[in-house]
Amino acid sequence: MPVEPPREPVRGGGLLADRFGRVATDLRVSLTDRCNLRCTYCMPEEGLAWMPREQQLTDDEVGRLIRIAVERLGVTDVRFTGGEPVIRRGLLGIVAAAATLQPRPKLSITTNGIGLERMAGPLRDAGLDRVNVSLDTLSPTRFEQLTHRDRHADVLKGLAGAAAAGLTPVKINTVLMRGINDDEAPALLQFALDHGYQLRFIEQMPLDAQHQWDRHEMVTAEAILASLEPFGLVPDSVSRGTAPAETWLVPGYVDAAGNPARVGVIGTVTRPFCGNCDRTRLTADGQVRNCLFATGETDLRGLLREGAGDEAIADAWRVAMWGKKAGHGIDDSSFLQPDRPMSAIGG
Ligand code: SAM
Ligand code: SF4
Repeated sequence: MPVEPPREPVRGGGLLADRFGRVATDLRVSLTDRCNLRCTYCMPEEGLAWMPREQQLTDDEVGRLIRIAVERLGVTDVRFTGGEPVIRRGLLGIVAAAATLQPRPKLSITTNGIGLERMAGPLRDAGLDRVNVSLDTLSPTRFEQLTHRDRHADVLKGLAGAAAAGLTPVKINTVLMRGINDDEAPALLQFALDHGYQLRFIEQMPLDAQHQWDRHEMVTAEAILASLEPFGLVPDSVSRGTAPAETWLVPGYVDAAGNPARVGVIGTVTRPFCGNCDRTRLTADGQVRNCLFATGETDLRGLLREGAGDEAIADAWRVAMWGKKAGHGIDDSSFLQPDRPMSAIGG
C-alpha cells in the first residue's frame, strides 16, 4: 500500500522529528518474532503463530533500511532485538553491514543470553558494541517456571561470555512480578555488582500476548527502590538525557571499567519518560512503529518490494514519526493494548 503523503509539513531537517519536538535517533530493529524461551509476561507456553518467513525482511532488506535510517534520517544508535535476535541466522552479517555505515552507529543487542557464550566473540568482531541480557531470577528452578525452559545455566554463561568478549558494560534487564520473583531484587543486584554487570529493573508493561497484565499487580519503580534500601542508593548526578532508565549509584562498588557502580529502574508505567523518547522501531516484517504502544504502523516492506527509492522510504519513515503521540497513555481510560505482543514488536 502506498504511504499517504504528509498532511502537514514534516519539519526537522530530514530527521525523524515529531510534532512535540522530539527527534528519534535510536532505532530498535526486531530481527525475528520467534524465541527459544516463553517468559510468562511476554508469550504463552505454547508459543505464538510465528510470522511467515516470506513476510520477514531479508537480511539485505534489513540492511538497506538501517542504512537509510543512518545515512538519511540521523539515526545514531541501532539495537537489535526480537523475539530472540541471536537465533536469527543472518545476525552476524546484519551487524557487520551496519558497522560499515557512516557515521558509524553504536550497535547493541538485547538478548535472553542463550547462545551468547558462543556468539559474543563473533558479534564483537562483526562490530557489536554492547549487550543487554535479560535475567529475572538467580534460581534455575524459578527460571524454568518463568520461561518454561531449563536454560538458566546458558544465560549465565552468555553473560560471562559477553563480558569476556569485551561487550561492556554488560547490562542485565530484569522484570519483577509480584509474588513470583519480587523477593529477588537485592540478590539480583548483589549478583550484578559481584560480576561487574549493570542491572536495570523494568516495570512490567501491558504488552503480553495473553493480555493478562494488571496495573494493580505490577511491581512499581517505587516498590523496587524500597526493596533496594539496604544498598543505600544515591541519586546519580549524571544527567539521564533520553535514557529510559533512572539510575542510582551503589556506594562501595565499581563496575568492570572501574566507574562507580549503578543500578537503573525503567518506570515506563509509573514514571513515564515519553517526553524525552528518542526511539523509532522497525518490526521483523518491516513495519515502522513510532512507539512501543502505537496501535498503527507504517509499511516499509511494501515500499521496498514495490521498488521504492531510498528517499521515498525515508519520507514514509519521517511521516510515520511525525504522527507519534505525546505519550503512551497507559493510564487513560481509552488506552488500548497494541495487537502485537512485545515479542513481535521488539522490546
Ligand atoms: N528475547 C530478548 C530478551 O528477552 O532480551 C529480546 C526481546 S524481549 C521482548 C526485550 C525485553 O523486553 C526483555 O528484557 C524482556 O524482559 C522485556 N519484556 C518482555 N515483555 C515485557 C513486558 N510485558 N513488560 C516489560 N518488559 C518486557
Ligand atoms: Fe523470548 Fe525475550 Fe519474550 Fe522472553 S522476553 S519470551 S526471551 S522474546
